[in-house]
Amino acid sequence: MKNFDVILVGGGFLGLSTAYHLSKAGSRVLVLDKGDLGGGTSSACSGRAQVCEGYLDPLNLMLIKEGIKRHETLEEELGMSYDWKRFGLFLIIRTEELWKRWEERCEILTKAGIPTEMVARAELEKAEPAMNTAGLLGAAYSLEGLLNPLLFTRAYAQAAERCGATILSHAKVTGMDVEGGRVRAVRTEQDTYGADTVAVMAGAWTPTVTRLAGVETPVRHTHAEALVTEPIPEIIHNTIELADFYEIIHGKQQAVAIGFGPVPNGTLVITEAVTMTDKLHAGVSHWGLSHLAVEIVKLFPCLAKTRVMRSWGRPTSFTPDEEPIIGWMPQVQNLFTATSMVETITAVPLVSEWMAMMIRGESPPVDMGRYSPARFSGGWSWHS
Ligand SMILES: Cc1cc2nc3c(=O)[nH]c(=O)nc-3n(C[C@H](O)[C@H](O)[C@H](O)COP(=O)(O)OP(=O)(O)OC[C@H]3O[C@@H](n4cnc5c(N)ncnc54)[C@H](O)[C@@H]3O)c2cc1C
Repeated sequence: MKNFDVILVGGGFLGLSTAYHLSKAGSRVLVLDKGDLGGGTSSACSGRAQVCEGYLDPLNLMLIKEGIKRHETLEEELGMSYDWKRFGLFLIIRTEELWKRWEERCEILTKAGIPTEMVARAELEKAEPAMNTAGLLGAAYSLEGLLNPLLFTRAYAQAAERCGATILSHAKVTGMDVEGGRVRAVRTEQDTYGADTVAVMAGAWTPTVTRLAGVETPVRHTHAEALVTEPIPEIIHNTIELADFYEIIHGKQQAVAIGFGPVPNGTLVITEAVTMTDKLHAGVSHWGLSHLAVEIVKLFPCLAKTRVMRSWGRPTSFTPDEEPIIGWMPQVQNLFTATSMVETITAVPLVSEWMAMMIRGESPPVDMGRYSPARFSGGWSWHS
């Protein structure tokens, strides 16, 4: 049996970035993914480094501010470009109540060093002349980040391999041997591996993997559908999203909330039609795609004849309190878990470095105890 210091289950943003920091610090690391690297949810996302839509608590605000700063030098550190750039975001607002709420959020965000401002409808029309602004009050504006998720995945994987990590795709974890309260071995369909520590970073699949060690993780998922159009002329200049995007989809059996923007090759990536389900799959529905199309054409009528080139769906995981799970599982001594981050792309450069420190038994510069899975030790309930 081949032995490693750390086995990471999951080759998405979280697993690969943590593998990079662990192997850079000298740990012998094995990453196992059941499919292609990034083939879970990471490579299927919009590539936005979001800055202003999440929680406004001090830890999250710091992660956003410092995460964006870290991206500015990360391509050089990893030795590969992932098409990082700063990009404008309009969060469009349709009600007085939402306008008031965003005025307050803008103040908090700006004070925390994440400049965000309210933009009246007339200004929004000037910035986005092709937009149908009927019924809109205006928008909140911020400067977020944008990257190519496929390249971001590859940059971390290549840098981890250069530091000595072994990364195996198409290596599904099918079993774990637990003895004396520790995982002693991880089994795939092909091999068995030993490790001092096992870290499960399997996104929405995390419960199915920790269950192999006899541990239930409180994670569920929604299934989100997205599409990409043919290249279009330069008529949309910023990422555009509904300010109440998350409220629209929250807790619904089926809902469509629009978030979209141009990517560097001139196409338009449009998200999300969301379905609550227990099934983990990558499929799309006629319902999802047609509703996404209807919503986008309401906002940009000039897109009515634009062709859809491709569509896809992926699970997005969440926890009972909608905060991430990051830390040691209380039931098994050497089992670490990380999943369900909110602004994943923004925060992952920092969080992965701190997770690597935790796994190596070091203290990260910031206490992430509030994300510990131990908070669910007394049980949990789902609100929606
Ligand atoms: C349409 C859409 C748009 C999004 N847009 C954004 C965005 O713009 N910005 C942003 O920050 N976030 C976005 N997200 C969310 C983001 O994609 C996720 O937060 C992120 O990809 C999660 O990364 P991860 O590493 O935790 O999980 P994943 O990328 O899902 O990685 C988990 C990996 O575990 C592997 N795995 C599962 N089971 C096993 C097993 N038994 N053995 C071995 N391997 C296994 C899977 O194959 C998978 O590759 C979006 C999500 C969707 C669906």
